[in-house]
Amino acid sequence: MANQYACANAGASTCGFRTTWTDEADLRRQIANHLVTVHEVKTPTATIVNYLVKVAKDMSGQVQH
Ligand SMILES: [Zn+2]
Repeated sequence: MANQYACANAGASTCGFRTTWTDEADLRRQIANHLVTVHEVKTPTATIVNYLVKVAKDMSGQVQH
């Protein structure tokens, strides 16, 4: 099963964005790009990106260490 991420799972219920990702670097790149282009976050902070990475890993059944 592919790794997934959806903004709705991160609390952005009005955003229909969802994607699949291969590894964490890919995921972080996609999230940062999405925040800038859609959510108008000029500089996504590590706090925000780390939180969204956690959401994506939870969705994909990956355990955080
Ligand atoms: Zn979004």
